[in-house]
Amino acid sequence: MAERGLGARSDLHKVGWELSEFPILCSTCLGDMPYIRMTKSDFDKECKICTRPFIVFRWKPGNSARYKKTEICQTCAKIKNVCQTCLFDLQFGLPVEVRDTFLKEKVEVPKDPVNRDFWAHQMTKNIDKIELPYDKNNYPILEKFEKKETNQKRNLPHVCSFFVKGDCARGVNCPYRHEIPEINELSEQNLKDRYYGMNDPIAKKILKGYFDSKPPKPPVDKNITSLYISGLTDESVKDNDLM
Ligand SMILES: [Zn+2]
Ligand SMILES: [Zn+2]
Ligand SMILES: [Zn+2]
Repeated sequence: MAERGLGARSDLHKVGWELSEFPILCSTCLGDMPYIRMTKSDFDKECKICTRPFIVFRWKPGNSARYKKTEICQTCAKIKNVCQTCLFDLQFGLPVEVRDTFLKEKVEVPKDPVNRDFWAHQMTKNIDKIELPYDKNNYPILEKFEKKETNQKRNLPHVCSFFVKGDCARGVNCPYRHEIPEINELSEQNLKDRYYGMNDPIAKKILKGYFDSKPPKPPVDKNITSLYISGLTDESVKDNDLM
């Protein structure tokens, strides 16, 4: 609970914390059940980004799914237009790092705790006026990304830590997943990286797939015979990759 000196504490809502009846979630986290039961607990955890207390929602997105909960507050979610649980962009269903690679507009969130408290407080006061940080119509490219791979596993039970170590005594009755995880799944320490759009292994994989599948096309005009290449290092010349 990092917010200090921004008003009397007699009433929680007067100090600028959020008031919400429903979380901001992407459709994957919400699941496809027609009815879901959500529990709501007021201010019992702090937001993983701004560290202010927020309303935590918990629910089960499907019969075989694990319980999920919101991890960041609504202000932080709205500012970046991301899901409160998985922190993927709400419009495109992609990690922030993938989205921001193509975005011209950037949303900067102060990282210094004092500035961040003040900033979060101001933002929460105007939460209803926060607009989408970008114009979605400007980015048809982001609509084209393959989302299947990233969405598939997000609601499954967690990977069994005993199985990963090589021995789970519960066998088929184990409620956790018996498989070796391919990419580090969402953990406490990489939540922040995912939010700020850096060092996100899932984003790296998606971007690599995108750039690898896009070799330069030969020009239509056959008279064009030279190719401009920049950013060369001694290594790339030495390895003869360009020959
Ligand atoms: Zn927050
Ligand atoms: Zn989500
Ligand atoms: Zn197990």
